[in-house]
Amino acid sequence: MTVRTRFAPSPTGFLHIGGARTALYNYLFAKGRGGSFVLRVEDTDAERSTSESMDIILDSLKWLGLDWDEGPGIGGEFGPYNQSERGEIYDRYLSKLEEAGHVYEDEGAIRFRVPDKTITVQDVICGEVSVNLKEQGSRRYNTETKQEEEANPDIVIKRPNGGYIFHFVNVVDDIEMGITHVIRGEDHLSNTPKHLALFEAFGATPPTFAHIPLNLNQSGTKMSKRDQGALIHEYREAGFLPDAVNNYMALLGWSAKDDTEIFDAKELRSRFDISGVNNSNSKFDYDKCKWVNAEHLKKLSAADLLEAATPFLTAAGLPADDARMPAALELARDRAQLLSEIPEVLATIFAEEVSYDKASLEKVKSREGIAGAVTALRNGLASVEDWSIDGIKAGIQSAADGMGAKMGMLMLPCRVGVMGSTSGADLIPVLELLGKEAVLKRLEGFEGLLDA
Ligand code: GLU
Repeated sequence: MTVRTRFAPSPTGFLHIGGARTALYNYLFAKGRGGSFVLRVEDTDAERSTSESMDIILDSLKWLGLDWDEGPGIGGEFGPYNQSERGEIYDRYLSKLEEAGHVYEDEGAIRFRVPDKTITVQDVICGEVSVNLKEQGSRRYNTETKQEEEANPDIVIKRPNGGYIFHFVNVVDDIEMGITHVIRGEDHLSNTPKHLALFEAFGATPPTFAHIPLNLNQSGTKMSKRDQGALIHEYREAGFLPDAVNNYMALLGWSAKDDTEIFDAKELRSRFDISGVNNSNSKFDYDKCKWVNAEHLKKLSAADLLEAATPFLTAAGLPADDARMPAALELARDRAQLLSEIPEVLATIFAEEVSYDKASLEKVKSREGIAGAVTALRNGLASVEDWSIDGIKAGIQSAADGMGAKMGMLMLPCRVGVMGSTSGADLIPVLELLGKEAVLKRLEGFEGLLDA
């Protein structure tokens, strides 16, 4: 059997992390098994569906690299993939139910007669759920009278205005599109008995169901779009790498048997399995997501790092195409969790003038004999012929020796003098990158500042 999964978003808002995780699990499950990943747009609710929402959802999926094999923009054997364009198919399926006596008209709507028997969902994550839809639906709680009252258990599948209802179109499309595995949020688990009843009425074999437990925020409530990290399109701007976001989302409810946490895209495809999905809710942790991103930044090739960082460098006015940039990025990649944090680490390297951090400056200025120390340092560095890591170290060492001091004593003044701050990338490699002339010029300027 060729695996066919689908992601079936309703275009009524942004792609949030819970939905993206569902898309990812479907993608990984299909791709890891040589199967197909289908994207189907559930836009039968004309009032709430918008094309802006659809664009954002598609862009977010593309950014994550969750490329669909069939769906909007590329078509496929079972199209169209927007439910709003599939009216004829639904009419045909409704006729099948009519012919078999499964439906009847009720005040302009069409109702599907639910069977009076126990239906059992065998969910591969959540286990078994059994229900008798006829019994369950025969009584309903009226929120106005605050009393239970009799109700019609049969499901409306077509509204009086002609619009088809979610349960019906969802099942018809899963049959028509040959979906073998339905992986979706646990909020749909309670709908599944209805779906199974429809599959049976059509004489179709139902797919395997896997409902993913909810993703909660740190306070343990359902994640809302106001929670940090909830919306996928914000991750790009925040400086995340798509593979890192996928990696983190995979961990949000799934774990590898050996507890490995960092996976590249290929490893994730081969390692992911539904059997590793937990049956309890997950808790979203933005800091952990940033940590995963930092781990991915460390592993990027130099060329990929430059490409990923370029929009952030450019936006910060840094010369992404400078010949020294790849080497500078090597100094920054360990200091940044997000791509957006890189420019700040590198700004001082590419600045025309050093901009001094006040507190750092005060710290250095308060040292006794600091002006003389900086002069000695500059002279030591001026005598360096081989401007390499070792050569520079030897230059600083000789300055320290001349003063009868330890080399470490000169490091802080050197750092603040050349980089403007006590923090930032590793000092000696920065000195090497800047070049002798620039370093001496910066130290000279610093001496002037100390004298003033
Ligand atoms: N359109 C449904 C939703 O967005 C998807 C239901 C399903 O995956 O079966 O929740």
